[in-house]
Amino acid sequence: MPGTFTVAIQALQILLGARLETSSSVRLHHAHDESFHTPASPDAVAFPKSTSEVSEIARICVRHHMPMLPFGTGTAMEGGVNASQGGLSIDMSLMNNVLSVSNEDMDCTVQAGVTRIQLNEHLRDKGIFFPIDPGADASIGGMTATRASGTNAVRYGTMREAVLALTVVTVDGKIVKTSSRARKSAAGYDLTRLFVGSEGTLGIICEISLRLHAIPEAISAAVCSFESIDGAINTVIETVQMGVPIARIELLDDAAIKAVNAYSGTNYSSLPHLFLEFHGTSAWVEEQATIVKELAHENSGSEFQWALNTEDRTALWQARHDFAYAVRAMRPNARIFSTDVCVPISQLAECIIETLDDINNVGMAMPIVGHVGDGNFHVVTAVDTENEDEMKVIDAFHTRLIRRALSSGGTCTGEHGIGQGKKAFLLEELPAGVELMRVIKHALDPDNLMNPGKVIDID
Ligand SMILES: Cc1cc2nc3c(=O)[nH]c(=O)nc-3n(C[C@H](O)[C@H](O)[C@H](O)COP(=O)(O)OP(=O)(O)OC[C@H]3O[C@@H](n4cnc5c(N)ncnc54)[C@H](O)[C@@H]3O)c2cc1C
Repeated sequence: MPGTFTVAIQALQILLGARLETSSSVRLHHAHDESFHTPASPDAVAFPKSTSEVSEIARICVRHHMPMLPFGTGTAMEGGVNASQGGLSIDMSLMNNVLSVSNEDMDCTVQAGVTRIQLNEHLRDKGIFFPIDPGADASIGGMTATRASGTNAVRYGTMREAVLALTVVTVDGKIVKTSSRARKSAAGYDLTRLFVGSEGTLGIICEISLRLHAIPEAISAAVCSFESIDGAINTVIETVQMGVPIARIELLDDAAIKAVNAYSGTNYSSLPHLFLEFHGTSAWVEEQATIVKELAHENSGSEFQWALNTEDRTALWQARHDFAYAVRAMRPNARIFSTDVCVPISQLAECIIETLDDINNVGMAMPIVGHVGDGNFHVVTAVDTENEDEMKVIDAFHTRLIRRALSSGGTCTGEHGIGQGKKAFLLEELPAGVELMRVIKHALDPDNLMNPGKVIDID
């Protein structure tokens, strides 16, 4: 129950001094992420500066049965940081040091509070970069915890592929290194992958070793419009099936384009678009672009509109990354409803087209965007959470969308995670898997103190 942790809070105050916050404004800031899920304030917020401090915090919390909720930047989409059972929000933002970078090994080790943009600014002069880019400037700890991806995943993979090793603090305060920096390892159970995507329910991720990539010699971005969405999706499927190593291939339907134009001041035609990017040597970029141009042409795509210099490319991708905020801006005082599903690429066209029919029947503005090269797409809308009838309609639509993805051999989330919003869908997707997850959770966190109520229900 919230409000029953007075003794724990006193002990935490002795440990952290002013870095233990109990003011209502700070607690409220940590009560929610960017989603529509009902906010729930923690009893206090801790701002540790080191892994050993996190360990001390865990020891105090476990002694007083106080739930622990790791907090990165609060940009997730499924209510993962909301403190529905009260407890301590552990804000990792002061653990924001890049600990080491190895150009030779093309890897780095960072504290969990480092954000993806901060890391790339740090790497900029070294000729290497970290490719994973959720739209928000999320923390590397939060991205690891949600197994995040983004527009570059089709070429560079997701956090599952990017993370080499972790240092985590378990519920009882032990500091555990999950692996080495070696590119491959067959040493025992894969503890690294156990914590990647665990959403704060198994332990607190404090340090992360990441695989980095060489900045390509040439980068070209382009947009291309299509008379129909089928043409855009077929271009994607054929590009992937031909094995073109495209770096980004993003779908925006006509409703998404309208929202982007209104928010970002762009003037794309009101048609479905693909936003594309090619990486490689100049010759290789040109060869890839020629192939995709031909595929687009055969699918009634427009000429490519190129963004060649860094400024134009940055503006193009910023508009894409701001998409969720563009949708929210369509309706003042609304919250973002953003769901994501992922299906095998062969099922993508059917799944999106059936979803568009469903959206037409529902009659609400629900734009679709997608990291479609991976078969991953999002339906986003702005919701009035106070309007029960509207939320029922959204809920029913959401259930149909997820079941459509599951029946296509897909998953209820490609990148946003389960949080509190998709627990029932996870159970539908992996019933026996959830049983096993409960066994793991019980072994690592017997009193259910690590981010309780998220990912799986214990009872
Ligand atoms: C505009 C916009 C665009 C987005 N686009 C994408 C996208 O393209 N792809 C994508 O994958 N996501 C996207 N997201 C969602 C979000 O940015 C990601 O889920 C991101 O990984 C969350 O990171 P965070 O630091 O904000 O984590 P938080 O929201 O703070 O936390 C998320 C979860 O991780 C846990 N957690 C956080 N830090 C730690 C830690 N150190 N140790 C253990 N657990 C921890 C929390 O307890 C919580 O359960 C988008 C969000 C927005 C607002």
